[in-house]
Amino acid sequence: SGKPDMDILPTPPLGVSQDVFAASIEELRRSIGAENVVVNDQPLQDGWYLESPNTHDAFHVIEQEELVCSAVVYPGSTEEVQIVVKWANKHLMPIYPISIGRNVGYGGAAPRIPGGVVIDLGQRMHSVVNLDGENASCIVEPGVTYFTLYEEIQMRGLPLWIDCPDLGGGSVLGNAIDRGVGYTPAGDHFANHCGMEIVLPNGELLRTGMGALPGKDGQDNSTWQSFQNAYGPKIDGIFSQSNFGIVTKMGFWLLHDMPHQSYCITFERDEDFAQIVDTIKPLAQKGILGNIPQLRHIIQELNVTGQRKSTFHTGSGPMTRKEIRQAAKDLPLGDCSWIFYGTQYGDSASIERQLDIIKKAFSSIPGNKFLFPKDVPEDHYLHSRVQVCSGVPILRELDWLNWLPNAAHLFFSPIAPTRGKDAQTIHEIVTAGHKKYGFDLFPTLCIAGREIHYIANVIFDRADAEQKKRAVALLRELVHDCAKEGFGEYRTHLLFQDQVARTYSWNDQALLRVNESIKDALDPNGILAPGRCGIWPKRFRGKGWEL
Ligand code: ADP
Repeated sequence: SGKPDMDILPTPPLGVSQDVFAASIEELRRSIGAENVVVNDQPLQDGWYLESPNTHDAFHVIEQEELVCSAVVYPGSTEEVQIVVKWANKHLMPIYPISIGRNVGYGGAAPRIPGGVVIDLGQRMHSVVNLDGENASCIVEPGVTYFTLYEEIQMRGLPLWIDCPDLGGGSVLGNAIDRGVGYTPAGDHFANHCGMEIVLPNGELLRTGMGALPGKDGQDNSTWQSFQNAYGPKIDGIFSQSNFGIVTKMGFWLLHDMPHQSYCITFERDEDFAQIVDTIKPLAQKGILGNIPQLRHIIQELNVTGQRKSTFHTGSGPMTRKEIRQAAKDLPLGDCSWIFYGTQYGDSASIERQLDIIKKAFSSIPGNKFLFPKDVPEDHYLHSRVQVCSGVPILRELDWLNWLPNAAHLFFSPIAPTRGKDAQTIHEIVTAGHKKYGFDLFPTLCIAGREIHYIANVIFDRADAEQKKRAVALLRELVHDCAKEGFGEYRTHLLFQDQVARTYSWNDQALLRVNESIKDALDPNGILAPGRCGIWPKRFRGKGWEL
């Protein structure tokens, strides 16, 4: 087929010459089909959520072409993934697997090493391998999105729920191994997986959990999706937020559908924040709250309804509290401070009883109001929570992309203890940082009994280079300031993965050193997603790649 079309030269990974790159691409085309190896030689397109690029980070917070791949490979089977991995070892080519690549706010589809070869698993490997109504479980390939799994269950008429995150277009498998969360009682996605199939960096194939034991007559083990712990060290965890393997199949537990009641509680005063958190804590620990509820600031009511910032505010700089108040007056929930979004599950009598306990607990905070879906207009966000909290995938949260022209966003997501005083400390750090760097603060707190995922959504104009610099500086400072108080991130954008890994530094970076030992043992040639989550293989380590 001759030389690949290279009018616009793709950037091969550092250290690989253009000729060697072209020759190795040709070799891969011969083994998995020319149409399945696409050189990235076209102008980059940011697209939008449902047409997200697999070449770079659509929400680039540095130059668009800095975190970019040289080629995208589309394997059609586990065997082809193994072929690609062996090819990468032969040519010392950095490869970066993605499932769907809609990891918005955390780097999208971009590889950490410029010129890395993206393995887009989702394009051709997207079947629901098994959907077991009796066991209430499934096995999926990387390309199965929340929408496809949901539709498959509906099509088969099974009375089961999935658990989806705020946006339903991502990969069920990809989100779980990045340890994403959702909002039904099965919201911890990684905790609700059961069994994995993994292509190791040397090309060998591994099954974890009960899947390691061959089933009768060559079948998959019949308890693969039944028991997580199996036998021996439980190694599934090392394949999440890491670069130790490519996950080609993953099992998940599903929920049975059940009656549910979503509601929101509005609070009047900003100052009651710590007390709200302290009221949630025992309710969550005792299991009275049905799911991981969200506590959102009133400014979120503005952006989640697709409103433009320019409607409320002129000039640069963040909206003032007074402007937020003014704008909120015209919204269904009115001028309030924090809004709690919860959902209760069970039969109607038990939901009623749970709500009584919750109402009583919050009654000590003056001016709170309970609202049910029937109390708010059809298009209010509460109706979207009803769907997400009962396993229906939606795209509502895309609405905040109207906030600014060319809007993109980054998540800052530290973990705080569920304690009013600590939540207050973290909120003050984040507020001060946003003020200093001139960004509106959009906080959503996912509050469990013992910890809070504090998620700040930093929305920026990706056509404004100066604003992007500020966003990066803000993130760097927040990571640093939170770590000083003992708060660390649960997940972060590619650019900050080294910095966050360094904050987990107890005993002279013992954790990072163990991860590096595992990396070197499993991936001696250092080909798989070098740098992901701050883990660099030996051949890159300490050579100036760390950011
Ligand atoms: P989603 O589209 O579900 O939001 P991605 O496909 O972007 O998620 O995956 C998020 C991150 O997880 C990727 O950037 C990649 O580092 C990692 N990842 C995704 N899928 C796999 C996989 N099958 N094997 C190993 N790592 C993966």
